[in-house]
Amino acid sequence: MRIRRVVLREIAMPLKTPFLTAYGRETLRRLLIVEAAADGLTGYGEVSVLSAPYYTEETPETARHVLASFLIPIALQTDWRTPRELARAFATVRRHPMAKAGLEAAAWDLHAQVHGISLAQALGGTRTHIESGTVVGLVRDVDALLRTVEQRIAQGYRRIKLKIEPGWDYEPLKAVREAFPQVPLAADANGSYDVSRTDELKRLDSLSLTMLEQPFPPPDLLAHAQLQAKIATPLCLDESIESVHDAQLAVHLGSCRTINLKPARVGGSTAAAAIHDLARSHGIAVWCGGMLESGIGRAHCLAVASLPGFSLPADLSGSDQYWQEDIVEPPITARDGLIAVPRGAGLGLRVRTDLIERLTVWRQVFE
Ligand code: MG
Repeated sequence: MRIRRVVLREIAMPLKTPFLTAYGRETLRRLLIVEAAADGLTGYGEVSVLSAPYYTEETPETARHVLASFLIPIALQTDWRTPRELARAFATVRRHPMAKAGLEAAAWDLHAQVHGISLAQALGGTRTHIESGTVVGLVRDVDALLRTVEQRIAQGYRRIKLKIEPGWDYEPLKAVREAFPQVPLAADANGSYDVSRTDELKRLDSLSLTMLEQPFPPPDLLAHAQLQAKIATPLCLDESIESVHDAQLAVHLGSCRTINLKPARVGGSTAAAAIHDLARSHGIAVWCGGMLESGIGRAHCLAVASLPGFSLPADLSGSDQYWQEDIVEPPITARDGLIAVPRGAGLGLRVRTDLIERLTVWRQVFE
């Protein structure tokens, strides 16, 4: 198969509630949508990059540049039998995992459609439903925090994760633990601690957390290994794992017992499946994080999360959690904390091209 035509778009999707970032409130989610045509079929992928380089280094501008100048030209010149071969061809471009993941995703959709199977089947997925967990941001008022957690539990979420940072960690987690003794509770620090604060992190060990996610900055696998040796709470790595190699190193060093595996962050579904296989062979649990994706990106995430080693609840919710209108139909829904993995061929959802057209702020066609 060879991709003959690519339409690359940037869309601006209105969010139900503003997304808080280090530099302000965003009411529109900027996403790149990749539409790839081959053999009379159309495949869709999404570049779930954030608008500023605070989570990873990529932005919509860097992704547009790298796709337009390098990755799309490679795709238009490469014959492949499976998208894994296309992923190998993309390896000549260093890094830029989210740009690669979006284009590779469109190829996975094409590949699954040609074979008349779902994305999940194409990847070897076995789960029919994904357990849904939820993330509570930095709500700096314990009463308001408890109300939010209570609502989320009532909505059926299977795991509560609190964002923490130095000075806002033990007290809020302890309050939630005492109010809801049975709820699976996790904490995510997004790399905001350094090793001088190890005692503050060790204190969290008494709260029976299911995991402590990314306490230290991404490059510091060694500090994570040293902390894991001192605490019983499983450490989870998110930002630290950007490739199969990162995962190999983390496993070798003992830096984590869990990996938050986002296909976009590691360069696509091929790499995500390889990390899944590696983690599984070492008894490391994986689960699927979210990047505030539209339904297109989310369908790809659900397919990856259907692999057998994804044994913990995902940070994936229904479309209605984020969007007034999603760009897929039917929208993705969570019932009793479970999201069904789409079963139809390809994405298994209808892409609302009319809505995408209305939300488009930029487009370019490549042939
Ligand atoms: Mg995280």
